[in-house]
Amino acid sequence: MIYDFEQILKSELGSEMVKYLLSLDDEAAAKQLFAKARETRDAVIGNKVYLRGLIELSNRCSKNCYYCGIRSGNKNVIRYDIPDDEVLKAAEFALQNNYASIVIQSGELNDKTFTKRVTSLLQKIGNLTQNQLHITLSCGEQSPDVYRQWFDNGAQRYLLRIETSSESLYYKIHPNNPKHNFTHRLNALESLKGIGYQTGTGIMIGLPYQTFDDLTNDLFFFKDFGIHMVGMGPYIEHPDTPLAKFSKIMLPLQQRLELTLKMIALLRLLMPDINIASTTALQTIDPLGREKGIAAGANVIMPNITPVKYKENYNLYEGKPCLDEEPDQCTTCIDMRVKLAGGEVAYDQWGDSKFYKRSQSKQ
Ligand code: SAM
Ligand code: SF4
Repeated sequence: MIYDFEQILKSELGSEMVKYLLSLDDEAAAKQLFAKARETRDAVIGNKVYLRGLIELSNRCSKNCYYCGIRSGNKNVIRYDIPDDEVLKAAEFALQNNYASIVIQSGELNDKTFTKRVTSLLQKIGNLTQNQLHITLSCGEQSPDVYRQWFDNGAQRYLLRIETSSESLYYKIHPNNPKHNFTHRLNALESLKGIGYQTGTGIMIGLPYQTFDDLTNDLFFFKDFGIHMVGMGPYIEHPDTPLAKFSKIMLPLQQRLELTLKMIALLRLLMPDINIASTTALQTIDPLGREKGIAAGANVIMPNITPVKYKENYNLYEGKPCLDEEPDQCTTCIDMRVKLAGGEVAYDQWGDSKFYKRSQSKQ
């Protein structure tokens, strides 16, 4: 069926229409939706795709999220911390390869040894690169003081996925205890934005018990919150986690991928000038998954530049791609992949969220 997207989008995209488009099982309509999202991105922020070199700093985690392969309860994981000199080497690699931006991600640790280490790493990276790299942190929930300290020492962006905007679903995928608290997570996100970070969040798509209403609400949560960046990906089971037991009631992987692409496209239409990442989990389901994300309106890709010897132990879900590839191999492959998706890799550009800049200039 051919839909008149021009007509549909003339009026503001409301929640009923979003839910309808998400639930629509029609390949031709999905293609039109992706084309419209691409067109909107190209018209508003261009077709440039920004790179964020991902460094998986540590897989030690004090939390026990039911879905995550590196949860503290998984005793099969060999835990690691990448020493400072190797992190610095990775940062240097990003700079030399003109990435302009890195993401430092880890399990959630709140002890002073960890939080001070991150502060000192930020200083060292800043000195080494003369502050030429923009740094995103993704190290979970921390106190406002710790967020402030990291911001003051050179982190410009922070990624903290809300995982789902539905409180009841949140407690189906996390233990219900003070360490895993929906309100604390929301407050942490508020605190990041208040401090001045370019603030990113996201959700997983295809979770057991997740409904089209939940996904629609997630998109409007991003909009109402005024989020600057989003990374959404399909949920993928890890066999050593409690949530994997619910596989029978989950959508097949291919459908999770298609739903993720629709979520990206709809978000692009709802928030045309934010940064949207095409996540690694998409590539896990389909070798061309990340290109499809770009073709559905995303504009950020995160090449993994973690040294190979650590990568295999940052196994969030089954089948994570490129585990045996050194960073330089990954770079060549990403360059080619973005070109294939019709995008253009934006080397040497920080690629700040335009929406963030717009909201800052209003203050
Ligand atoms: N520990 C920090 C946190 O949770 O915010 C950052 C690292 S955590 C590994 C980054 C993200 O990985 C989580 O926010 C979650 O959305 C995603 N993730 C974890 N397990 C996953 C799975 N099985 N499938 C897809 N994404 C997963
Ligand atoms: Fe830890 Fe983050 Fe995994 Fe939760 S999602 S177990 S906080 S690494």
